[in-house]
Amino acid sequence: MDNDKHFNLIINIMIGLLVAAIIILLDHLAINIKSQPSDYNWQDSTESASAQKENAINDGMKKIEPGETTFLPILNFHHIGTAPQHADKISKSFYLEPKKFEALLKSLMDNGYHAVFASEAVSYLQTMQIPENKIMVITFDDGNEDFYTNAWPILQKYQVKSSMYIMTGVRGEDWLTEEQIKELDKFGLVEFGSHTVWHPKLTKATSEEIDSELANSKEFLEKLLNKQVNILAYPFGLYNEEIKNKTKSAGYISGLTFDQDAWQNPDDLFALTRISVYPELNVVKFLDELRNGK
Ligand SMILES: [Zn+2]
Repeated sequence: MDNDKHFNLIINIMIGLLVAAIIILLDHLAINIKSQPSDYNWQDSTESASAQKENAINDGMKKIEPGETTFLPILNFHHIGTAPQHADKISKSFYLEPKKFEALLKSLMDNGYHAVFASEAVSYLQTMQIPENKIMVITFDDGNEDFYTNAWPILQKYQVKSSMYIMTGVRGEDWLTEEQIKELDKFGLVEFGSHTVWHPKLTKATSEEIDSELANSKEFLEKLLNKQVNILAYPFGLYNEEIKNKTKSAGYISGLTFDQDAWQNPDDLFALTRISVYPELNVVKFLDELRNGK
């Protein structure tokens, strides 16, 4: 055998080994792929369905044109629980029975709504890109204890994200404790924001009071959670131009109010509108009307 032939033989053997290795590798992959479905239980396939849904949301983005508003419902709740019997009509409107809350979440999901954090919604508005799929934000104000006992088990059951706005100065048995806030934050399904320290009407407060309410509540939550807190829900939804400017100067990226509307203006992140959910409101129908009414 001369050197050239010897060389060719070695090359052929090497190619042969390489092809064999590729076949073994492909076969192995095929076995793995084939064996996967039978390994899946229903929970895994639910997870994979929700992962697909997540991908679909990440993939399908649409542009928000400059100067246009965009449909992005931000729902607001106060109490999930049974209203005290002696409560007046207005106070009762802030309570939603847990069963009703669960039915509402289910019907929103059945109608294609996917909950995102308020911070995610703000980031869509900042970048002028929003998922094509229907998204919504579920917010709670005040930090009532019944969030932990009644709302949280339901939100956790359906893995629904929510955003909670805390009055950082108010403590006691009716309110979330610092431990509960930290525990909820660690779980990753609840995002916390500020609802000021003492829940004043900011439009009636002095300039100094506004500054300290905005700064101290932010600082309190940031220290407690060791992360940035940069969305504010105005107490009673009350704000004006001065309050908007001060909120921005205090380091917030957005301020939430109420206007029973779901169309958001990306040029006005310090006046994002929320829909206050009361027991008689047919939320899905109302959202459909708002969506089509434009
Ligand atoms: Zn409030």
